[in-house]
Amino acid sequence: MKDLFDLTGKVALVTGGTQGIGLAIGLLLGKAGARVCVNGRNDEKLQGCKEAFKNEGLDVLTLNFDVTDEHEVDKGISLIEKSVGSVDILVNNAGIIKRIPILDMAIAEFKQVIDVDLVAPLIVSKRVVPKMIEKHSGKIINMCSMMSVYGRNTVSAYASAKGGLKLLTQNMTCEWAKYNIQINGIGPGYIATSLTAPLRENGHPFNDLVMTRTPAGRWGEPEDVANAALFLASKASNFVNGHILYVDGGILANFGYLKGEN
Ligand code: NAP
Repeated sequence: MKDLFDLTGKVALVTGGTQGIGLAIGLLLGKAGARVCVNGRNDEKLQGCKEAFKNEGLDVLTLNFDVTDEHEVDKGISLIEKSVGSVDILVNNAGIIKRIPILDMAIAEFKQVIDVDLVAPLIVSKRVVPKMIEKHSGKIINMCSMMSVYGRNTVSAYASAKGGLKLLTQNMTCEWAKYNIQINGIGPGYIATSLTAPLRENGHPFNDLVMTRTPAGRWGEPEDVANAALFLASKASNFVNGHILYVDGGILANFGYLKGEN
């Protein structure tokens, strides 16, 4: 049974893995035996990530590069290939959100979100996939969202990007599944990280919405998402292709309820 989830000998890259969901995924893949590489743009956070791995008795290769910059991505992945080998497991996790109503949102801000959340997974995947094809083996996990299928006030750019990422996951599958590369997505519900910190402030109405809409009755933890990532990174998912695994406490299953209703 342990063998099914054993990642010994695999090189995993978790983009934006210095904190939150990405950090939890990196740590779990490391515990499963993978040689984990993490990138971000902030040296202090990269150092904190190194310490988090060290505290678990694990090693990590940290790299500072911006996933939206093709040249930096190429340099970063070349360094990974030279240091630990080609990437077997890619987790396209780096993401940003801007909560701005459509009419107030500058086009440049919209494009910035699309660049990080949709174009960057394409840039990084295109860089690692040729080696996966050579090896006839690979796993790509794209961090989607409930906003891959829902709209909501103020998150037009984010939802456009994440909806696009769901379809990109399906299209990558159409083109690359034949090379024994499994490309899947994870759609986290509301997870307690810095991305959602503004929504979890005391008395924020959104906190009520999450608590009442989520059948599981709680915010998710980064580890909840990491567990799904381990499945999608492992042999256990070798015939799972182009799927979006929602890790959302059931929120997508629930239309909501009327105040006062049981
Ligand atoms: P987070 O705590 O804000 O972490 C985001 C990470 O992405 C950071 O490590 C950040 O590093 C990195 N990053 C951002 N832009 C980057 C860039 N251009 N190049 C390289 N790294 C970059 O976010 P999170 O909540 O863990 O979310 C992780 C992923 O899950 C995102 O894709 C997010 O959309 C998705 N998600 C989250 C939730 C949730 O409820 N939290 C729900 C659904 C989906 P730097 O600061 O160094 O740039």
